[in-house]
Formats: sequence, C-alpha cells, structure tokens
Amino acid sequence: MGSAALFHLARRGVRVLGVERFGLGHDRGSSHGESRAIRLGYFEHPSYVPLARAAYENWADLERLTGETVLTKTGVLEIGKPGSVIVNGSAEASRLHGIPHDVIDAAEISRRYPQFTLPPDYMAVWQADGGFVRPELGNRLHVDLARQAGAEVVWNAKVEAIEPGQGAVRIVTDAGTVEAGSVIVASGPWIGELVPTLRPTLTLARQVLCWFEPKRPEAVAPGALPVFIIDGAHDIAYGFPNIGTGFKCASHYDSGILADADAARQDAGPADETRMRDFLDAYLPDAAGPLKAMKTCIYTKTPDEDFVIDLLPSDPRIVVCSACSGHGYKFASVIGEVLADLSTKGETPHDISRFDIGRLTGTA
Ligand SMILES: Cc1cc2nc3c(=O)[nH]c(=O)nc-3n(C[C@H](O)[C@H](O)[C@H](O)COP(=O)(O)OP(=O)(O)OC[C@H]3O[C@@H](n4cnc5c(N)ncnc54)[C@H](O)[C@@H]3O)c2cc1C
Repeated sequence: MGSAALFHLARRGVRVLGVERFGLGHDRGSSHGESRAIRLGYFEHPSYVPLARAAYENWADLERLTGETVLTKTGVLEIGKPGSVIVNGSAEASRLHGIPHDVIDAAEISRRYPQFTLPPDYMAVWQADGGFVRPELGNRLHVDLARQAGAEVVWNAKVEAIEPGQGAVRIVTDAGTVEAGSVIVASGPWIGELVPTLRPTLTLARQVLCWFEPKRPEAVAPGALPVFIIDGAHDIAYGFPNIGTGFKCASHYDSGILADADAARQDAGPADETRMRDFLDAYLPDAAGPLKAMKTCIYTKTPDEDFVIDLLPSDPRIVVCSACSGHGYKFASVIGEVLADLSTKGETPHDISRFDIGRLTGTA
C-alpha cells in the first residue's frame, strides 16, 4: 500500500519520502509469496466491486508504463455448498454489478475441471476476470516508477514515532527525523505501533503458504487450473496454477494468533504441511506431491474484515491505511491512488465509506 501511494504521489509531482523498516521484497510482513488472488465478483461485499474494477485499471496502467506483466487472468472458481458466503456472495455481487459469471453445480465443475473431487451438493461461481497479481513485482514497479518521478526512499529505517506539530508532522526514525505536511501510515501488521487506537481492534493471524511438486503436473498447469477457493467441510483454502515454482495453496483460516508482528517467524513445519495435504487429498488429490517450500505471512484482521482507510480523527494530516484482513493486495494499485488523494486533498472520489476508522475506534 505504501509503495503504491509513493508512486501516485510522485507522479502528481508531490515531494514524497518513503520510509521502510526492512528491504524491498522482504518476508516479514504481508506482501510476499509470489501471487495474490484478484477477482471482481466480490463475495465479501458487493460494494468492493467498483474498487476492484478501478484496481484492474490501475494494474493495467502500471503494466503499460513498465512493459511488465503484474496481473494474470486465469479465471476464478469459487466453490462451496449452496448458500455459503463464497458462492452466494460472489453470485450476488456479480449479478448486482453486471459481471459475466456462471453458477455451476458439482457435475458441471467436474466436467470443466475433472481434477477436483467435490461432494455432489457443492457448487461454484466461475468468473473469467479472476486471476492473480504478483505482489513483489507490483511493489518493485511502484517503487521504481515513484523514484523515477522524484520520490525518495529510505530503506532499513524504522519509524519510531509520528509527532503532530503545529506547522508539520515530525516523523522520528532510527535513522533521523523528518518533517512533512502529511503522513500516510501503511505499516501493515505493525500499524498498531504507530496508530495505538487501532491496536486493540486488530488481530494478527499467522498464515502459511505451501508449494508442492504436483503429483500430476497437467492437473495444476496454467490453462488447466484456474485460481480457486473452496469453502470445504473443515477449512477454506485457495490455490493457484503452477507458474513454474510448484502448486501454491494456503488455508484462509489462521494457524495461530501473534502477540505482535515482530513475533512472526519463518517457522512453518509438519503440522502446517499436514493440514494442507488433508485438504488437498479431499478436494484436489493430484495436486500435492512432495513439499517444495512453505512461507509464513501475516493477516492483519479487523473484526468485520473490512479495511481501514481514513484520516486520523485527531489529526487529519495523518492518513491511516490497514488494508488486509487477508484480501487487500489486489486493491493496492487503487488504494495507492486513494491514499494520495486523501493526503493531498483530504478526500477521494472512490467510495471508501466502508473503511472509516471510527467504526472500530468509536471516534467520529
Ligand atoms: C498468506 C497471505 C495471503 C494473502 N492472499 C491474498 C490474496 O489472495 N488476495 C489479496 O488481495 N490479498 C491477499 N492477502 C492480503 C494482502 O497480502 C495484504 O492485504 C497486503 O499485503 C497488505 O499490504 P500492506 O502494505 O498493508 O502491508 P505490508 O505488505 O506488510 O507492508 C507494510 C510495510 O510497512 C513496513 N513497516 C512496518 N512498520 C514500520 C515502521 N515502524 N517503520 C518503517 N516501516 C515499517 C513493513 O516493513 C512493511 O514493508 C494475503 C495476505 C497473506 C498474509
């Protein structure tokens, strides 16, 4: 979110500085691990659809400017029982916003995708625009373009405090202090350290990404397998076609709650592998051959799983962005634009009414 904001501010000619505690592409926060699902028919709530459409446009813009491919459309298959939030929510959002989609039963799923072994009462919503974006690449391109447009970036510098002063806001880092007219706080799972009112409202969930050598490579090859999410009997999990690094999948449920983001470790182990294998054995049995890799990552979750993107009520020069709850990355390209709007004009034409901070902190 920070690198996208940096890009949008720099391209508008704003003098902007990015401060990052670690290096580009690090694996301590929420934006690593090769791919993030992107989809239009948004089961979480139909009001996300306009933002998703704008995100698609902005990813395309980034691709035009750089000649790189950030977004790959594979189609998305959202599978569950009839009446499940994933199936109903996705179909409803698609209907309301005129997004072409198919609602299909288990027989039709297995006709189109015989690699899935689903209970006969399951169904799915198929949507052709779904796919994945590459987070490390997206972040790097946003930073590169921002720097070309004049932005400065300080790496390996930790913001210790944000101190509102009369003329400017002071940003105290362990590498020095700077003053700014406006500050965007997009510190992912560390946001509670810099915006203490948010801290008690957020949960930091340990998540594990797994990559397997496929048992049958044709079953998970691009073209044969779309991005999918399955609301199964005991777990919700999702996966991606093999883009050369193995079959990647993960559970959407957490595997532990972290006391703070610094407590996160790359500590995925046999229990994480077993949990994923059990799921795949039930629903996609040709996917999981030998384990290739696992990575831990953090979901920063609000109680309602909607984002926080707002001006800080106590000081509107400070823009707060916590856009995760496990589904934020796809929107980074447009959230960067929203953050640039908020920090320069105090408002944005995008509908972010769902993301106000007051609903969590009780402030107006
Ligand atoms: C396993 C997993 C799977 C996901 N799957 C999807 C998906 O399929 N689709 C989707 O859309 N979204 C998905 N998400 C959510 C998405 O990845 C997040 O919404 C997004 O990465 C959040 O980005 P961010 O910029 O808010 O946080 P981060 O990427 O964590 O960035 C915050 C940055 O702030 C820096 N920072 C923190 N504190 C300080 C400080 N004091 N000083 C300086 N710098 C600091 C950190 O080092 C970090 O680089 C997933 C998340 C995870 C963990």
